[in-house]
Amino acid sequence: ANIPSEAPQLEIADPKKATQYQECVKGLKLSKDTMLKIGKIFHDEMELGLSLNPPKKSSLQMCNTYITQLPDGTEEGEFLALDLGGTNFRVILLQLSKGQLVREEVKHYHVPEALRLGHGIPLFDYLATCIHEFITEHDLEKRRIPLGFTFSFPMDQRGLDSGVLVTWTKTFNCEGVVGEDAVKMLNDAIHRRGDLNVDVIAILNDTTGTLIQGAYLDTACGIGLILGTGSNACYIEKVEKVLRWDGGKAEGAEEVIVDIESGAFGDTGVLDFIRTDFDRELDRHSLLPESFTFEKYISGRYLGELARLVMVKLVKQRLLFAGVPSEKLLTPGGFTTRFISLIEADTINHSTDNVRIVLDEIEVNFDADDINIVKDVCYLVTDRSAKLVAITLATILDRMNKPDSVTIAVDGSLYKLHPRLSTLIGKYIQEFTPARKFSLLLAEDGSGKGAGLTAALAIKMKNNAQQ
Ligand code: BGC
Ligand code: MG
Repeated sequence: ANIPSEAPQLEIADPKKATQYQECVKGLKLSKDTMLKIGKIFHDEMELGLSLNPPKKSSLQMCNTYITQLPDGTEEGEFLALDLGGTNFRVILLQLSKGQLVREEVKHYHVPEALRLGHGIPLFDYLATCIHEFITEHDLEKRRIPLGFTFSFPMDQRGLDSGVLVTWTKTFNCEGVVGEDAVKMLNDAIHRRGDLNVDVIAILNDTTGTLIQGAYLDTACGIGLILGTGSNACYIEKVEKVLRWDGGKAEGAEEVIVDIESGAFGDTGVLDFIRTDFDRELDRHSLLPESFTFEKYISGRYLGELARLVMVKLVKQRLLFAGVPSEKLLTPGGFTTRFISLIEADTINHSTDNVRIVLDEIEVNFDADDINIVKDVCYLVTDRSAKLVAITLATILDRMNKPDSVTIAVDGSLYKLHPRLSTLIGKYIQEFTPARKFSLLLAEDGSGKGAGLTAALAIKMKNNAQQ
């Protein structure tokens, strides 16, 4: 589809008001020079993150995933997959035959806030309870089933089946898990029950699952990207470049998937020059302040809130809604990322239908200028997100330096629901690295199907190692 990438027409009759508006939002506009500078910094942070004795700390973790193979069409068997990262936990049963998915059963379980913010033990006990319920419902009690665990948080992996949590992100903040191995915590919970016959053979990040799922769909896939509640990317790196990898290298492995944890880009301060007051305020009131700053510029959990903070400031300066806010506009979370998607759809369609619905929903009185300004704010927040994602992808593509086109597998609610984020990201990658060939591929449910495929790969890699 040909979705236009242009900014909305911003018509503000009063020139003084127009100038004041531009002054207020100018920090959100990043020039091409600034973007290319960010690309250089990202590149240096990647290098630093991979090095053995870095002279200073990188904001990029560059985690080794230990996955050195991609699906090749020989994957066989039945697998369980767990997916934890958003507000839903999923248990999935997958059956693969000659690398093809021939059966899939899924069940969603809500993870209430009390579990997301409580102690880790009840959280993992809950996961074990869900697995038990699923297994009983599918009459799998008598079988021993290998399991792949998608745990969408930054991990320090010590092997395919070991991942120490570095920090929580997004909507989780459980005590007693940071610094612990999530596989061990899951196994402990499974043993506490004593009635489960599963084998946790692989733990993986959702970006990794997305890359694997992407590679299953398209052999040119080399990058996995998530744009959902949070954001992150992984890519295929040469083993010799992963200098921190100390032992246990698979014989003959040339490449390995590296989880960048790009959501933390800039946490050491190297990106502070793009931070606006809106970003600082958003961070201050976030669940985990001063961490994952890049993710807070980009992902679904934050874009709506950013737009709200911009609008609140505009109201205070009497540039919006005649200076009169509503209760909802003043409430954190009162303007969601879903609203941005709706309003961006209006911009594409030269309509004002959605914007009117949204503004009615947040209970403000508005005129024609207000409509234009709100559309512009939603565009600016979207556009900055797209540019920042694109510069990281362009930098990864340059680093991979492939002569042929590289496919970028993408998943995540923001990417799927926003009407033109993908168009904008594609446009900016092209602009930032014009000579590279790439394509963006929606790889749906990388964290589910990808986990099943990864479990199958784990078995193959283990067998190879033992031969
Ligand atoms: C986590 C990543 C994850 C991303 C997308 C981030 O907050 O740190 O590990 O891949 O969210 O779910
Ligand atoms: Mg997910």
